[in-house]
Amino acid sequence: MHDFTYRPQSPRTVFGAGSLAHLEREIDLLGARRAMVLSTPAQARQGQMVADRLGARAAGIFPKAQMHVPIEAAREARDEARRLGADCAIAIGGGSTVGLGKAIALDSGLPILAIPTTYAGSEMTPIYGITEAGLKTTGRDARVLPRTVIYDPELSLSLPVALSMTSGINAIAHAVEGLYAPDSNPIMDLMAEEGIRALAQALPAIHSNGADAEARSNALYGAWLCGSVLGNVSVALHHKLCHTLGGSFNLPHAETHTVVLPHALAFNLDYVPGAALRIARALGGVDPRSVAGALFDLAQSVGAPVALRDLGLREADLDAACALALTHQYPNPRPLEKAALRQLLQMAYEGQRPSSAT
Ligand code: NAD
Repeated sequence: MHDFTYRPQSPRTVFGAGSLAHLEREIDLLGARRAMVLSTPAQARQGQMVADRLGARAAGIFPKAQMHVPIEAAREARDEARRLGADCAIAIGGGSTVGLGKAIALDSGLPILAIPTTYAGSEMTPIYGITEAGLKTTGRDARVLPRTVIYDPELSLSLPVALSMTSGINAIAHAVEGLYAPDSNPIMDLMAEEGIRALAQALPAIHSNGADAEARSNALYGAWLCGSVLGNVSVALHHKLCHTLGGSFNLPHAETHTVVLPHALAFNLDYVPGAALRIARALGGVDPRSVAGALFDLAQSVGAPVALRDLGLREADLDAACALALTHQYPNPRPLEKAALRQLLQMAYEGQRPSSAT
């Protein structure tokens, strides 16, 4: 057993099919009376449904959340929260909507109640991101961690199957990197392994039938665990690469995580034998030496993308992506060496299956 420090940070979590029914009770527990409801334009109906439930305790709806939280949208939402006299923000949606709530909370300390409808896991983390003039700044601040999270799997039934697959693998990526984080601890390791197991079992079932209520519930349970890991320990090369590819080349978030994960894991595999054992168990007992290939197979078997070229990256961008990934490095188990990193990006670009460690 290695040395560790354990000080969990977690929102109050309410989980269960139909648990949106507890919204009023949870608003009461926050001591809030005027909730501002946030959503994307695409989920405006779900936002309206939440506001309708709350009746007079809904101060207003702001259905303008966007990917990567542009500063202009954050400013408009902050102004609207002040104008409405809101004393809490309810974010119903995925990481983009929770991210908008965090941008408001960072400025004002407004408590957030999150109702996640994807598997991204942002609701369990004190990590925020705001994009200004094309540059995304991220940071950690306890003020942005939601106070309460209501996980109602019924609300995830409408998440398109393709997005469910990539969103679920995005969550798995949080747990994989958590397993080799220098600040990990035994509880997070347990949560990471169980989170990977739950999602790896649920995703093929959802792929077969998006209306499978039990699989939806298991996937959201896995997302809670993986998001909790992200919120409590640090991340490494995989997240750095995805941040670079998303921020500088405008690649889609969950899909990029899906493509990069097997390659980032293969890159680190020889340096993280304990993590490899746990991932192998979570994937149903595969050989620990082949966990990177097994994650590639999982993505491919559920129809998820496996090549960066299919996400719009150009081969000519690979050198620049490599150079960017080498600047302001995150701590990583294996030292980052240019030729090996460039090779990783080439394989991810082409969609080659990593057979074992690279
Ligand atoms: P998203 O929030 O952008 O959602 C994608 C689309 O799916 C949106 O149009 C959304 O309205 C729609 N959608 C979501 N749930 C739906 C449902 N149940 N039914 C129908 N449509 C639904 O996607 P995401 O992958 O959840 O979040 C990505 C963003 O979150 C990125 O900006 C990423 O950086 C951020 N993120 C942050 C953290 C963190 O800890 N800060 C963690 C993970 C992701």
